[in-house]
Parts: sequence; structure tokens; C-alpha cells
Amino acid sequence: MSEDGPDPAAAATTPYLPMFLRACGQKAAVVGGGLVAARRVETLARAGALVSIYAPRLDEEEFAPLSERFAFTHVAREPAHADLAGCLVCYIATGDPAADERLHAALAGAGPPINVADRSDLSDFISPSILDRAPLVVAVSTGGASPLLGRMLRARLETLIPAAYGRLAAFAGRMRAQVNSKLRSPVARRRFWERVLDGPIAELALARNEPAAEAALVEALDRATESGEGPWLGEVYLVGAGPGDADLLTFRALRLMQKADVVLYDRLVDPSIVDLARREAERIYVGKRRADHALPQEEISDLLVRLAREGKRVLRLKGGDPFIFGRGGEEIEKLAEHGIPFQVCPGVTAATACAAYAGIPLTHRDHAQACVFVTGHGRDGPLDLDWETLIKPNQTVAIYMGLDRVEELMQAFVARGGDPALPAAIIDNGARVNQRVVVGTLADLAAKARAANLRGPTIVIVGTVVSLREKLNWYAPEGATQRPRDLPPAGGAQ
Ligand code: SAH
Repeated sequence: MSEDGPDPAAAATTPYLPMFLRACGQKAAVVGGGLVAARRVETLARAGALVSIYAPRLDEEEFAPLSERFAFTHVAREPAHADLAGCLVCYIATGDPAADERLHAALAGAGPPINVADRSDLSDFISPSILDRAPLVVAVSTGGASPLLGRMLRARLETLIPAAYGRLAAFAGRMRAQVNSKLRSPVARRRFWERVLDGPIAELALARNEPAAEAALVEALDRATESGEGPWLGEVYLVGAGPGDADLLTFRALRLMQKADVVLYDRLVDPSIVDLARREAERIYVGKRRADHALPQEEISDLLVRLAREGKRVLRLKGGDPFIFGRGGEEIEKLAEHGIPFQVCPGVTAATACAAYAGIPLTHRDHAQACVFVTGHGRDGPLDLDWETLIKPNQTVAIYMGLDRVEELMQAFVARGGDPALPAAIIDNGARVNQRVVVGTLADLAAKARAANLRGPTIVIVGTVVSLREKLNWYAPEGATQRPRDLPPAGGAQ
């Protein structure tokens, strides 16, 4: 062999070889009886290893719960070389660095690769942070540089990879042989799985409907050809984008946004949220100001059908929750009629978002046992609300689309017997950085709102719960002059 050529050590980007070792049924040793040792035992036991723990004592608090779930052997002494014969791995984690080092010196060369807790310099291998969605497992390593960073990344992945992905992996595992026997070429298989794992079939499995996922996969497999082409159907995601702050999106909304080929959004959806959709996705504005509907409802439905028929994954992004004053139901009726797969993802609706960010609980044992959501936007004619229901005591009323008619609304409450002194609030751009809240009563809210020159969107909240804001107001958006209550006044005595 030539001595020339690149130096292997210098060429290495990491000194570790990533792999998953089969541990099921294999012997393994753990030295130590404390918390770290317990975590190692757990990892090994989950993989089905036959674990022997060498320690004078086992920490009761750590090991009692483990012993309920797993079998392991406790040996109340230090291990000798002979104990490690035939072991797959050995972990040393006594909790005492000097003891760990001494044990490592004594056991090195006994056979199995050794890991010493917090001593990557002494370890033959290191343990990654694990995201367990069995059979799907993600392992993160920083090469021993910062295990904490590894754990933080793992936590991030936790949010990106829903628990249901384990089911998806298991589903794919079950169907693999069938797909392999029908499709011979690796290219055709890859195309097939790409469509399955990224499309409606995977969504069925993720939604725990494995029988339907299996039936759909078998049907798709029937139609699949070696060229990988096939009459794939698109699908539509009707997704609630929340009140405007991207922070209030659900994980599911974000995941579907990352899959979309086309995004249809309207005025209420903040551009910062539309930005989170897949970079390559085509964006179509179908905005809706009450008067100037950019696209009539009918046409939006037709567009959804047409795009899905082209095989696209279509994201219909709506402000708040799609099923609360969002006409989401109307838009997907047509999809159902045409047999196009769709799913609905809820969002934080404006009333709950505004209430939370204004410090106004919608229900409260001392104030309101019910909460009613109504729209203040009658179909161009006079307000047509069920006042009998709205005027009841011990109840909160949240009014959507009420800004233009706040005067009329407040007067109507009073005319129907509402106490003019009943607290009411109007929240403009709720849960956003430019949120503004105007608090008053049935008698004066309209005048105050006018004076504040609010632009909308707004939610009006009527009920005695509004008085709780005085205590519970916590949200001070950027740039607001308001200070959190528990800080001492500026320059005041400490
Ligand atoms: N589907 C939406 C509501 C659509 S109707 C949801 O669930 O929130 C549009 C109305 O929602 C607006 O007129 C306004 O009343 C309300 N709205 C939406 N976003 C809002 C926000 N950030 N602050 C206050 N009101 C909001």
C-alpha cells in the first residue's frame, strides 16, 4: 500500500462512525448505580440488550421505575475483565470522575468498546441524543463537543417530527415487500415512495387511519408503472393560520405549509406567515375585503378543485380558524363532491387570541359560564342577531367583524335591556405587535373606539370578564410604553 496520499486522520471530518448496532439479545455492561447509569440501562434495555449493572448499590428512585418495565441483572461489585467477555458494549458511569477513570484503566482492552460518561477522550464510542419514534429513530451527535447542544437540537427535531411519524415508518415497513415485488426498478420504487410518503396516503397513516392508507397504497400500486408515472391525485389542506403572529401557528399547520405546491391566502393572513410556506410554492392571493372580494367564493372553490386535479398539494391558508366565520366549510364542500382528498387543520381563532393577549378570560367562575361567538356583519342589511341569547347574564359575547357597526351594536345591547355600565372592550389587531385595546362600557365603547381611530381587524368583547383585564393584562407588545407590572418604577427605590 502506498504511503502517499491524504492523511486519513487529517481527512476525517469526525472521528466517529455513525451507525445503529443490533443490541437485541446481546450482553451489555453498565458500571454505576446512579442517574446517568440508569439512563444508559434504559437505552440498552429498550434495544433489548441483556444488561448487567455493576455497582455496590442502585439508586432506588432511578432504578425502581426501570425495574418495573425492564429486566436487568444487578451485580454488587466492580466488573472484572472476564465479566466483559462477549459484551457488545460497556458503559462506565459511576458518578465519580476519579472512579470512572480508574475503572476505565482497569477494563480497557477487556473486549467491548467502552464509553465513559462525560469523557469523550477516554471513550471508544459516544452516545447520541435520541429522538425515539420507533421504528423511526433520529440520533444527534456533536462529537462530544457539546452534549447539551445535541439535546437542544433533539428537542427542536421533536417539534418537527410528529410522534405519528413512527406509525408512518411502521406502515411503510409493512408495505415494503409488496411494493418491491410489484416495482422492480429502484427508480420506480423511489418515485412511488416519494409520492406515498409525501402525499395523502401518508396523511391517512399519520391520522391513524392505517386501513384506509393501506387500501389507498394498494390501489396506487395497481396503477403504478415502472416508469414511475401515475395518475396521482393532489390534495387540499385547509389550514387555520391563527390571528397573525407566526408563533401561534400549530406544528401541524407548519408541517403542511412546508409540503404545499401552491398556497392560496387572503388578506387576514400576515405575510410573515405566508413566508413560512415552502419556498418553491406558488402563491396566489385570493384576498377578501368585504366589498372587493379579489376572487368570488365560487371561484376559489373551483380553483382548489382544478389545482388538486393537476396533482398539486394545495394549501388554503385562512386567518384564525378555518371553521369559525371563515367559510372554510363552503370551500371544501366542492372538494368532497369531487372526491378530492382534503384535511382541515384548526387554528387559534381571533376571539380566543384577542382574549388571551388582552388579559380577558372568556369564561370565569365569578363572571361568565358561557361564551358566545357572533358576527356583527349582517349581510348588508340590518343586524340580525338573536338578542335573547346575547343579552343573558353570566355570559361573555365575542363579536367578530363588528368594527363598522360597533355603535349600532352597543346601542342594540342597551335597547334590549343590557346595563349601560356593562364592561366592553374592543381589541384591534389582537395578538400582533400592533395590538391596541380600548376598554369601556356599553354606553361609551363606541365613542372611545372612534376616538382611537382603530383600523381593524377587531374583536369586541362584552361582559363583566372585561374588568379582569385590569389585573391580568400581561401583553406589552414591542414599542409599547406599558411596563410589566412587577418591575419597580424606573429610578425608584430598590
Ligand atoms: N376565521 C377567522 C375569522 C374570520 S372573520 C378566525 O377564526 O379568527 C374576520 C374577522 O376576524 C375580522 O373581522 C375580525 O373580527 C376577526 N379577526 C381576525 N384576526 C383578528 C385579529 N388579529 N385581531 C382582532 N380580530 C381579528
